[in-house]
Amino acid sequence: MSVDFTYYCYRCGGKNTLNLPAPNAPAYHHQDLTCNNCGDGTRVLVSHCPNCSNQYVYWIDDLHIPNLVQGFAKYMVHNMQAMIDKAAQQGARISIDTPEKFPINAACPCGAKFSIDIEIPDLD
Ligand SMILES: [Zn+2]
Ligand SMILES: [Zn+2]
Repeated sequence: MSVDFTYYCYRCGGKNTLNLPAPNAPAYHHQDLTCNNCGDGTRVLVSHCPNCSNQYVYWIDDLHIPNLVQGFAKYMVHNMQAMIDKAAQQGARISIDTPEKFPINAACPCGAKFSIDIEIPDLD
């Protein structure tokens, strides 16, 4: 499944059209974009509605959402580990399952609500 994706560059307003793979949610495609007018770079995260055949959702992604999620997961795990160590010193036991996925919620114009799942690497 692929889609013709059009966006307007934030810097110069130039129109860019390209064909992107768009797997059905919860899978997604993440790609660097380069404006063909001014060369400005951004990223896009695109996913296809699992409920209808002709709609897709996308996020323009200057922050690199998957890296952000993974960086945040690392931060969380680091801080949880500090808390667990402290609890252990006080004789308590805590076990925490770290999630494997971070869902991003989306709504399609067809009315379907779904999420795409950003994988969180195993940080143990
Ligand atoms: Zn541009
Ligand atoms: Zn839909």
